[in-house]
Amino acid sequence: MSDTFAVKVIASGSRGNSTIIKTGDTAVLVDAGISCKRIVTALRESGLEPSDLSAVLLTHEHIDHVNGLKVFAKNNAVPIYATEKTWQNYKDRSSIKRELIRVIPRKFTLGNLDIEPFSIPHDAADPVGYMLRCGSEKCTYLTDCGYVTATCQAAVEGAKVLILEANHDVEMLKHGSYPVELQERILGPLGHLSNKAAGFMLAQLQQLPQEIFLAHLSAENNRPDLALATVQELLGQSLTGTDIYVTNQKEAINNEEWSEDNA
Ligand SMILES: [Zn+2]
Ligand SMILES: [Zn+2]
Repeated sequence: MSDTFAVKVIASGSRGNSTIIKTGDTAVLVDAGISCKRIVTALRESGLEPSDLSAVLLTHEHIDHVNGLKVFAKNNAVPIYATEKTWQNYKDRSSIKRELIRVIPRKFTLGNLDIEPFSIPHDAADPVGYMLRCGSEKCTYLTDCGYVTATCQAAVEGAKVLILEANHDVEMLKHGSYPVELQERILGPLGHLSNKAAGFMLAQLQQLPQEIFLAHLSAENNRPDLALATVQELLGQSLTGTDIYVTNQKEAINNEEWSEDNA
């Protein structure tokens, strides 16, 4: 028997990322790129304490994914999972208590969640996305991804719930205020996924997820309505039966399962 995935994206974007994923009584936090205070507030608003978390799962060491980690780890004894290279490149590693540090194995189980990281192309030491499985259902977390590799495509296939980067609109980026080097970094194979690239990857799927969270939108080079319209345009009629949520930097966005679970 499988529980449904309740997802709350507390914040998403280049100024900080953090998401709670919960199935039944197992909950994990993906990334801690916002203040500890904000993470704890979001948990409590949902009836959770930090001690209810089975883990913090880190995708990579960029500041927008770890900014609140040091304080969170100081105040809360929640194990933190990251790849060995991510740990090596995380600047505040020495301040994290040894007993909280976990190097992710290829696959592991926490409560009713089977968790499997997968490599993603991005300009960090060893960045990953995550597949979380509960019974026959799968939730995939994929942001900070330069381009869609076969591994990424396979990780998304069959997901019921998907958190997917839609970072920028290519035209807005090319005509925006970013210096050319930064534009090239974002557009490059180790940069970020555009709205169109996200839509194309979805269009390749045998089966669309029931719920898609568009995530890590650029404040400068994207707009929520544009990200949504681009994906909708590429998918057309096949989107029937799929709910799309557009996440943002300032306010938490959750799916319906979340409200039902935690009303
Ligand atoms: Zn990054
Ligand atoms: Zn990022």
